[in-house]
Amino acid sequence: MSTALSTSPDAKTQQPPRQKRIVVADELGYCWGVRRALDIIQEAAQKGGRVAPIGDIIHNPQVVERLRSKGVEGAASVQEAVNRGFRRVAITAHGMGPHLAEQAAAARVELIDTTCPLVTKVQRLAQKLVRQGYFLVVYGDADHPEVKGVLGWANTSKAVAAKKIEDLPWNAKRGEEGPGKVAPPRKVALVSQTTKNVDELMKFARQLQEMVVPEGGEFRLCNTICEPTSERQNALKRLVERDGCDMILAIGGRKSSNTARLAEVGRAMGVPSYHIERPDEIDPAWLEGATTIGITAGASTPDDVIEEVVARLVARGYAPPEGGIRKVDPDYVPAY
Ligand code: SF4
Repeated sequence: MSTALSTSPDAKTQQPPRQKRIVVADELGYCWGVRRALDIIQEAAQKGGRVAPIGDIIHNPQVVERLRSKGVEGAASVQEAVNRGFRRVAITAHGMGPHLAEQAAAARVELIDTTCPLVTKVQRLAQKLVRQGYFLVVYGDADHPEVKGVLGWANTSKAVAAKKIEDLPWNAKRGEEGPGKVAPPRKVALVSQTTKNVDELMKFARQLQEMVVPEGGEFRLCNTICEPTSERQNALKRLVERDGCDMILAIGGRKSSNTARLAEVGRAMGVPSYHIERPDEIDPAWLEGATTIGITAGASTPDDVIEEVVARLVARGYAPPEGGIRKVDPDYVPAY
């Protein structure tokens, strides 16, 4: 009996193996605000000499290293910058509370402000809401510089940072009384750290609203997640829906909040998703059975780091992304 003409069901249905490939989100990497901050500070260093941004100018160690060679070197405080001989300090794209300008003036050093205008908008909004009598809740990481800065501008004891309902100073709905029960005040407003996940913000907002609205309470939600952050999250959702990714790599500094959110978005869609900072963090075990790998990157990830990750995957037999890594105009200005 010949086997050459065998037409087993398997042979009939068998598809050619899918080509291993890399697909990239339409929007990824450097956002407008980070690009703007880097341009301002590099130009300042080039024209007038060394500048010390207070805190991390950007949550990406590779870029921090590159900036150091151009005379831009972070310091933990104005005092530390002065002690190290800097005559100029800078506020990073994340923004800072008003105390920094006061400290710079007192130390007689020049202050360069690179706060992203989308963060400034949240700072001003926080002040306005407090003036209007709202207790302010900032949905975000209490120790993130942006959140600290927004609370600094709110300048009130009636403001708190929270990322889950248990972080709030209340544990009961308005109108609920009894031993140990603490209910919220009548007016509560919610703003968000600009780089948060909108689905998680909405979940938190619904829970907070349920606590506040009984008994005539007033709840105001201001979605201050910035357009570039939302766009990166939406672009990742589109990528997974369109290309059916087997795995997502979200590239960005370990401390980058928005990169962590991108990995969360991938996982929420049921795709194994990993937050990596460098290509050598790719575990070969992740690639087993992964035919289509989706790539996204946080708002502070430079293109060359994304390219290095792509090159690492190409070396492992994946076809590079059609049309390269950047598909949109990097110079667009978001609405604010
Ligand atoms: S992530 Fe948004 S708020 Fe933050 S720097 Fe970029 S554009 Fe500005």
